[in-house]
Amino acid sequence: MKLTINDLPYSPNALEPYISAKTLKYHHGKHLQTYINNTNKLLESEKYNDYKTMTDILLNADGALYNNAAQVWNHNFYFFSFSPKGGGEPLPNTKLYNAIIEQWDNFEKFKEEFVTHGTSIFGSGWVWLCQNKDGFLEIIQTKNGDTPLTQGKIPLLTFDVWEHAYYLDYQNDRKKYLENLWNIVDWRIVEKRYVAN
Ligand code: MN
Repeated sequence: MKLTINDLPYSPNALEPYISAKTLKYHHGKHLQTYINNTNKLLESEKYNDYKTMTDILLNADGALYNNAAQVWNHNFYFFSFSPKGGGEPLPNTKLYNAIIEQWDNFEKFKEEFVTHGTSIFGSGWVWLCQNKDGFLEIIQTKNGDTPLTQGKIPLLTFDVWEHAYYLDYQNDRKKYLENLWNIVDWRIVEKRYVAN
């Protein structure tokens, strides 16, 4: 198998001022591309011949292959969670909206807890809204390139908290970056991910 990069589903400046074209140029064009190249390079080795799909790799590989492939998966998931028409809240009375309100009482509390989880990751990682094995929503952190798929959880939304995701636009202010991302989250996509399960 060989991975190729997906084009962004919006123009590079479409998410400004929340994510700049410059950040996307590096984050998508350089960082993601490097994870893809590293994964492909590793897959040339015969010992990985049995891996036929991304899921195969994520659930069975470890070390550099797992780290790079998981970063490819995480980044695609992240970039495809945003839209210049995003922001606001999930539509009222959608399954996702009701589940969030049931669990956190109100949308502000949910967002606050999500951002708190994102700011408190020490070092690099990801903050996620997931559906756990019992079907309930939960906010979790993963370190470095780790992905919730290996924990049997279904990811619905993620914010990347590696410094490369925000340093050009926000310098050290990770909290402001995370809070600003709410302006571009495409809740229709998040709702689709939720209902699909
Ligand atoms: Mn990243």
